Amino acid sequence: MSTQNNRERSKHLYEEALEHIVGGVNSPSRSFKAVGGGAPVFMKRAKGAHFWDEDDNRYIDYLAAYGPIITGHAHPHITKAITDAAENGVLYGTPTGLEIRLAKMLKEAIPSMDKVRFVNSGTEAVMTTIRVARAYTKRSKIIKFAGCYHGHSDLVLVAAGSGPSTLGIPDSAGVPASIAHEVITVPFNDLHGLREALDKWKDEVAAVMVEPIVGNFGMVMPKPGFLEGLCKMAHDNGSLVIYDEVITAFRFHYGSAQTYAGLQNHEAIQPDLTALGKIIGGGLPIGAYGGRKHIMEQVAPLGPAYQAGTMAGNPASIASGIACLEILQGEGVYEEMERLSIRLTEGLQASADRHGIPLTINRIRGSFSAHFCQHPVTDYDEAQDTDGEAFAAFFRHMLDQGINLAPSKYEAWFLTTAHTDEDIQETLAAAEESFRQMAS
Ligand code: PLP
Repeated sequence: MSTQNNRERSKHLYEEALEHIVGGVNSPSRSFKAVGGGAPVFMKRAKGAHFWDEDDNRYIDYLAAYGPIITGHAHPHITKAITDAAENGVLYGTPTGLEIRLAKMLKEAIPSMDKVRFVNSGTEAVMTTIRVARAYTKRSKIIKFAGCYHGHSDLVLVAAGSGPSTLGIPDSAGVPASIAHEVITVPFNDLHGLREALDKWKDEVAAVMVEPIVGNFGMVMPKPGFLEGLCKMAHDNGSLVIYDEVITAFRFHYGSAQTYAGLQNHEAIQPDLTALGKIIGGGLPIGAYGGRKHIMEQVAPLGPAYQAGTMAGNPASIASGIACLEILQGEGVYEEMERLSIRLTEGLQASADRHGIPLTINRIRGSFSAHFCQHPVTDYDEAQDTDGEAFAAFFRHMLDQGINLAPSKYEAWFLTTAHTDEDIQETLAAAEESFRQMAS
């Protein structure tokens, strides 16, 4: 088994980065704070399912850049689309035919979206769905679910108050209490909590927003009936339903959670607005939102809700997104990611069991989360009640053997179309060694 302990250049670069970039990272999730601190690994090259760091160590990647890289790194079809776009000029500030093509692909795959608008990130997409819902309903409050992450705009950096019917409190410095008071947070998978919140705030609630399959405190399926109940309660209350599908769209099949066969009753779980990002840009910055025509027509220049973007719909991101979706249209693509993911999760579970290490795996097709606990993980409280120290130890043992995971116990593992049986075998051998060391 190869070890990758020499990360001297990463350490050196981290020290330098700390001088110039706040915290040394451009997104807090990249820091190693949650896994005991120290220098994160500085990567310099990636191809397929593999990364090479600045010290030339090789890693198998399960981070997939937090989701977008579903076809593996530097896929030739996507690379060609991006270089072609670059040669034709990367930004016009005018409409393009390419945008229509990607919009049509999204609409065909996600029928609840009659109209689409491209933006630059998942954060922007979610932020704007909230504005549109408020404009349409002429109401101001939003209900969201604990542990779901919706980007970093003010309205969604809000934590629960003391119960489902209490107003939110800021979850970040700089978010005013007055904004947090516009948000109510209830537990995921808890229709009673939602009922209580809707009964309390009634016609003040513009929208109920949810990750229909959670990707941010592990991968968590909605319990049977949860999304049906959520949609019915919200609509009976005159509120809109917003699905944040920034992680889930094109993740489990060629479509989104709202069309995923694992969730049976599609008609009863259709949202009014959907936010997208990640995979639909094939690795370049993108976001999109869409929904029913009469609701989307609130958006400028047709309607009174303003939203704009200098970079929105730029030809490079759009071409990259089209190329990524074209790959995902290939036959058997999702089935193969699922096959590898089953092999990996079964092996991980068996290995953890062998060494007496409690492990609960939530797998949904080619993605899964591995929680160091014995209980099921169906909501945020259960995801929090897991052994962070065990995860940190596992993370470091795996990294030292060339397996790149997200440095947080809440993040998912993503298989890509580039992973192979050899990668799985190597990963399982590393896991066996990690669990052995943890148990000794
Ligand atoms: N919504 C969900 C479900 C996400 O997981 C994320 C990012 O992880 C976002 C929104 C924000 O997307 P971005 O980081 O592109 O702004």
